[in-house]
Amino acid sequence: MAITAAFDFYETIPRRLEANQIAGKGQRGKYICPNPNCARSFNWKGNLTRHLKYECGLQPRFKCPHCHYCCKVKGDVSKHIVRKHKDAAVYVLDIFNSS
Ligand SMILES: [Zn+2]
Ligand SMILES: [Zn+2]
Repeated sequence: MAITAAFDFYETIPRRLEANQIAGKGQRGKYICPNPNCARSFNWKGNLTRHLKYECGLQPRFKCPHCHYCCKVKGDVSKHIVRKHKDAAVYVLDIFNSS
């Protein structure tokens, strides 16, 4: 099963990452995100798995057509346009599909 392999992978992450997390954040999640650019940690392995799958390491895919704002979540770009570009058309560019 692929999901089991993923768990095994996260178990092998060096412990020094955990030390960095505790020193920097005061958060004591047992399961540390393996992404060096990310400071998240979780008490539940399932939360880390969800984080990695839906939040972490994903490239921002959706772009505001009116400025350089990019986001991983389409709805957030729509909200951004409503907030920042009050009179502009609300639509979202999909970077992955436009290339
Ligand atoms: Zn992360
Ligand atoms: Zn914008």
